[in-house]
Amino acid sequence: MNKYKESHKRRLQKKRYVDNNRLMLNKKSLARRNTILQSWIGIIPKHTNCEVCKNTIEFMNKHNPIFFDHRNEGNELIKTPPTNWLSLRYATPKNIDIWKSCNFGMLCRHCNQFLPTKNRKEFLLKAIKYTFGENEKI
Ligand SMILES: [Zn+2]
Repeated sequence: MNKYKESHKRRLQKKRYVDNNRLMLNKKSLARRNTILQSWIGIIPKHTNCEVCKNTIEFMNKHNPIFFDHRNEGNELIKTPPTNWLSLRYATPKNIDIWKSCNFGMLCRHCNQFLPTKNRKEFLLKAIKYTFGENEKI
């Protein structure tokens, strides 16, 4: 009984702390996320070009970020959004191996939006037929 009351009280304290310090806590978790992501620079280039349109894209840049693309139909070891996966794990040798095994493409926001993960080749072939007509030789 007492134990329950204490833990309830503790929970309330925690909630109050979180409510009163939300901004500071958000800043802290953002800072942690940035520190983790920074550990990947070098494994992931800071600047590169979209592999489709060649526009400049930048790791950890809000305006023209790199979109890591599941180019293998989502059969990669990392199934979750790659940037989220990165932001939760430091670049340790084990994590680097997992990351490299996925062979993610690097795209800009625009190109990433146009490419479905599932049935990509079928989609592109249909889009080519639609654009060029059934008899076009590619
Ligand atoms: Zn692009």
